[in-house]
Amino acid sequence: MEKRNVNLVHIASNSDLGVFVSNFLEVNAFGVSNPCEYAVFPGFCDVHVHFREPGFSYKETIVSGSKASARGGYTAVCTMPNLNPVPDSAENLAQQLRLIEEGACIHVYPYGAITIGEKGEVMADLSAMAANVCGFSDDGRGVQNDDMMRTAMKKAKELGKMIVAHCEVNELLRGGYIHDGEYAATHGHRGICSESEWAQIERDLKLVEEIGCKYHVCHISTKESVEIIRQAKARGVDVTCETGPHYLVMDDSMLQEEGRFKMNPPLRSKEDREALIRGIQDGTIDCIATDHAPHSAEEKSKGLEKSAFGVVGIETAFPICYTYLVKTGIITMDKLMELLVWNPRKRFDLPLGNDFSLWDLRAEYQIDPNEFLSMGKATPFQGWMAQGKCLLTVCDGKIVYQAD
Ligand SMILES: [Zn+2]
Repeated sequence: MEKRNVNLVHIASNSDLGVFVSNFLEVNAFGVSNPCEYAVFPGFCDVHVHFREPGFSYKETIVSGSKASARGGYTAVCTMPNLNPVPDSAENLAQQLRLIEEGACIHVYPYGAITIGEKGEVMADLSAMAANVCGFSDDGRGVQNDDMMRTAMKKAKELGKMIVAHCEVNELLRGGYIHDGEYAATHGHRGICSESEWAQIERDLKLVEEIGCKYHVCHISTKESVEIIRQAKARGVDVTCETGPHYLVMDDSMLQEEGRFKMNPPLRSKEDREALIRGIQDGTIDCIATDHAPHSAEEKSKGLEKSAFGVVGIETAFPICYTYLVKTGIITMDKLMELLVWNPRKRFDLPLGNDFSLWDLRAEYQIDPNEFLSMGKATPFQGWMAQGKCLLTVCDGKIVYQAD
């Protein structure tokens, strides 16, 4: 490859990486102050994505999902187990591992399911999967039964693995599909109350205190969740959590009657969004994870009520966070790197190899899903202006994405 000529590169806090980057770039100077033109970042890490294989290749494949991730600057992702078959045994997991081996251009770490079929009834064979998974999760649904969660936490602790929880109390859902707030009330929609999320976080944290397992909460969206986790951390509970870019920059006042605004948990209120921002600022929230959840165009074409839950996010995460959180002064670039790189890699023990991405931070453009490498195109950010364009991504010393 011909080296790219770059005048000034901002290296985000890793000097080894700087040495490595210079193998790829003819760099005239390394900047340590504010990024100017180009920036090199260590490979981002997303601990919550859905790549849909095996079982749902019409939504996304390991190949398309990992290419989309590379275009977003990601070199490590953790894939959720709502698949067919569900990775709830060594045998089922092996199918997914084979597809990853054959198709992934970046590091893809699967979760094993907590319960068989993610049904919450019978515990999956955690021991048999432990060596090949990044943690255990029934993402897509909450584990309703207290005793089941207690048993799973004990087992996970014994295996030295993390429980990664999608917290949702089914009996509080009442057929809701957007936030139970102003927009739902004024537009005649059924709402999902905040308690359906925080009540299960509260239950789980009591169990974590009792058992002492490593525990991570998926996609927190409510102000109460932030406060409950803040207090638990202050008590020394071994808990971390994530939220998504959309919860940090959008709220239910921005909803439109289209499927691309529907995800679970839903976009909450302005007060919730502000609490989440305070959560990333003060370290209560450890990671930004996209919950990249592709569906077919048809599945997302049925408005708020009937469309499938889930939006894509892996190709817009950095540009959205950079434009709307860093450039606006809400957080620093170093803080964003903690949320996108260092905290998730440390918590999930995912090593950073010779992995980086090169960005043109001046490039300003309108987000157009037709440019996505993901098969999923439904994003609430469609048409938003964003700054920051990925030019090159390198994983394990190999180029895995290069812009035209
Ligand atoms: Zn989830």
